[in-house]
Amino acid sequence: TYTLGPKIVNWNQERKVWLDQNPEFPNYVNKRARILLVTGSPPKPCDNPIGDHYLLKAIKNKIDYCRLHGIEIIYNIAHLDKELAGYWAKLPLIRRLMLSHPEVEWIWWMDSDALFTDMVFEIPLEKYDNYNLVVHGYPDLMFNQKSWIALNTGSFLFRNCQWSLDLLDAWAPMGPKGPIREEAGKILTANLKGRPAFEADDQSALIYLLLSQKDQWMDKVFLENSYYLHGYWAGLVDRYEEMIEKYHPGLGDERWPFVTHFVGCKPCGSYGDYPVERCLSSMERAFNFADNQVLKLYGFRHRGLLSPKIKRIRNETTTPLDSVDQNNIRRQVLHGS
Ligand code: UDP
Ligand code: MN
Repeated sequence: TYTLGPKIVNWNQERKVWLDQNPEFPNYVNKRARILLVTGSPPKPCDNPIGDHYLLKAIKNKIDYCRLHGIEIIYNIAHLDKELAGYWAKLPLIRRLMLSHPEVEWIWWMDSDALFTDMVFEIPLEKYDNYNLVVHGYPDLMFNQKSWIALNTGSFLFRNCQWSLDLLDAWAPMGPKGPIREEAGKILTANLKGRPAFEADDQSALIYLLLSQKDQWMDKVFLENSYYLHGYWAGLVDRYEEMIEKYHPGLGDERWPFVTHFVGCKPCGSYGDYPVERCLSSMERAFNFADNQVLKLYGFRHRGLLSPKIKRIRNETTTPLDSVDQNNIRRQVLHGS
């Protein structure tokens, strides 16, 4: 069967030796685990040129979040393995980055069509000390209903360790495009509730793997649903005004979603499950909702959630440091919002 590369068996030990020998590249800095956020998009321009503009907004949004929170970020537009094109491209990429960046403790994959909508919230990493994979999901949907949306692979974290390499190896075999991916799709549709008939996708394959080898993997998998590591856009984007009225950034849950993910939209491709106009205006709203939290630092906000135009919210002053103290997101993170 297909493999991601030569089998690596001793990564924990080799990585530890490397970390000991390279103290200038620590995996923990000021007691905080080093995180690398990974995202990307296809090597070619979008079918629909407006899609490229939304990819730009989506990467700007991620750069803003990562800069404010001291997270490194990488944007990939190559197919490292041509067998694993499309949504499967994240697997060889994550493996490659783990092996090339032993200093990174957590690799955080985020889809291009997922936006940070809470610029203050931070992932509670302490919670995951004993886990190696953190993904948004629901145990009941997973183990009782065997639903194909029990978890979402649009935003998840992998610890850089042997266990994660092993999981990637176990996850990949349904990925090669062509007959293998087509046949595997039939198995997934037959076994997962609600799944339409189509080729094997990375999300269904992960659910199927965790269901069929529960004892082997689940003790190190954290299914997170106390905040929106992934949040399905359709239930969120129309409520932003209500959230602004009632709540504040930093909550990360349904009151102020950490991530809004445009599942089924595909503005870069030619087909999607929703009308492209609804997707684009919803993405515009999510982007501006998030961007307002960034612009506030500089004394501006968007004229409305659908407007790229901005306006001033503070007058220029001769004592600029006052507003630095009042509006700094990094300060809110350090002191609680
Ligand atoms: N992706 C990529 N290269 C590709 C195709 C997809 O890096 O050639 C990434 C991209 O970030 C995308 C994610 O994989 O958001 C999931 O792919 P999918 O086709 O499911 O796109 P989505 O539904 O997220 O638009
Ligand atoms: Mn997506």
